[in-house]
Amino acid sequence: MQVNGACHCGEITFTAEAEANFCVICHCRDCQVMSGAPYRSILPVKESGFNLVSGKLKLYHKTGDSGNRRELAFCGDCGTHVYATSVVEDVPLGQRMLGLRTGMLAEVADLPPQKEVWCESKVDWAQDLLALDMTKQNGQ
Ligand SMILES: [Zn+2]
Ligand SMILES: [Zn+2]
Repeated sequence: MQVNGACHCGEITFTAEAEANFCVICHCRDCQVMSGAPYRSILPVKESGFNLVSGKLKLYHKTGDSGNRRELAFCGDCGTHVYATSVVEDVPLGQRMLGLRTGMLAEVADLPPQKEVWCESKVDWAQDLLALDMTKQNGQ
């Protein structure tokens, strides 16, 4: 499936080809801090299928909980996170897997997560979000 992404300010736009919906929810501490939310939803795509249509990605390197060095790409203007991937020292450019942040995808509603990872740092109240009282949704 093709997905279409845009950052909040609109500078960054891209298309990407996902082989299937392998969407995962990540509960790692870095995702909590960097996304500003208690967990993050991620769609893996091949770098060769990622097509930046407009804008320039700002890159930030970090060492993950796994010990792996990771490259994070985001919009330098509005701060929207685009993807995380391996550093080019570990995997050659063009052959990496990108973990797209699904919130910026037009197709986010069609990408239900298939599994959860890093559940050691999952917040307790996220165990069962379906238990929320539906009458309290829609900001009422
Ligand atoms: Zn932006
Ligand atoms: Zn994570």
